[in-house]
Amino acid sequence: MVERVTTASDPTDAVLSESALSVHGVCDYVVNVATGCRHGCAFCYVPSTPPVRARKDMICAESGVESPRSDWGSYVLYRDDLPERLDAHLDRKRTWHETERGRGIVGVSFSTDPYMDDRAAGIATDVIRVLADHEKYVRVLTRNPTRALRDLETFVDAGEYVTVGTSIPSLNAEAVRALEPHAPAPASRLDALRSFAEAGVQVYALASPTYPDQDRAALRRLLERIATVDPAVVFHEPFNVRSARMSATRSHARDCGDRDLADAFDRLSGTDAWIEYALEHSRQVLELGADLSLPIHLCPHWQLTRAADGAVRKWFEAWRERQPPESFAGRPLSDDAPLSTPDFERR
Ligand code: SF4
Repeated sequence: MVERVTTASDPTDAVLSESALSVHGVCDYVVNVATGCRHGCAFCYVPSTPPVRARKDMICAESGVESPRSDWGSYVLYRDDLPERLDAHLDRKRTWHETERGRGIVGVSFSTDPYMDDRAAGIATDVIRVLADHEKYVRVLTRNPTRALRDLETFVDAGEYVTVGTSIPSLNAEAVRALEPHAPAPASRLDALRSFAEAGVQVYALASPTYPDQDRAALRRLLERIATVDPAVVFHEPFNVRSARMSATRSHARDCGDRDLADAFDRLSGTDAWIEYALEHSRQVLELGADLSLPIHLCPHWQLTRAADGAVRKWFEAWRERQPPESFAGRPLSDDAPLSTPDFERR
């Protein structure tokens, strides 16, 4: 069988990068085990980011693809020696960047999936071991927690230093397959996360990005299923229609024959419709989360915040200032008062 994905080694010497994800309380650093991701999610923002855009010539030369952005999902350049380089880097490092919201946490990996396959998993698990040995807190994010589960012992050994999470945008497996064509099904992600939780590993979830055709009942079913793994926090984010990958997202939805989803994406083309959907989903996720005793943290994208105005803009901005209600990395549970949600009409 011909391999769908071209693989090679990544010649980068990057080890540990400071991260803007601190604004959402996710982490202060990221470590990426590879460039490229075999899951090839249609909406993925990574191919539009500087680490991919600025390294276009290298990626094309190493992988043979013509466009790192259009060919996203068809190449992976692995950083096989990353664990050794990270270990040496941490031995030498004398200062540690720790913001109030990011808590010095290291995200593994947010520009690729660290458990997308065995080669990436081998690197990721060694990276977790190195970070935990240096007493650094690690937030692992993967759409393939089933593969990560094979290295459960490392997670258990890392104890309080690690939390593992997965994205569950919808329980509609067909729709998820349309937009995340090579990632495992949502049910298997949840099953694996539950196994982590049962082994005593702290878990979290991302209800993200929630699809515009999900009504309140669908969001409730999604959160009810997520609640079964008892996550320390559930991050929520709606789609960013200003993303450069939005047209690819629309065509994936249309190509898979899901007319409802494709039509729902088409209806989001105007700014008002986008903000109305984002606000409505955010509000419902918060209400349902309260109903289900789920700790919810909203992560509105800066482009969404900037597109809104009035009370809605202030509300999204306020969420970018808040602590996630997650006890991890020495962070006490937030005692922030709840924010009242504005009506779309009053913005
Ligand atoms: S798993 Fe994450 S990094 Fe990989 S394609 Fe999907 S969204 Fe992008």
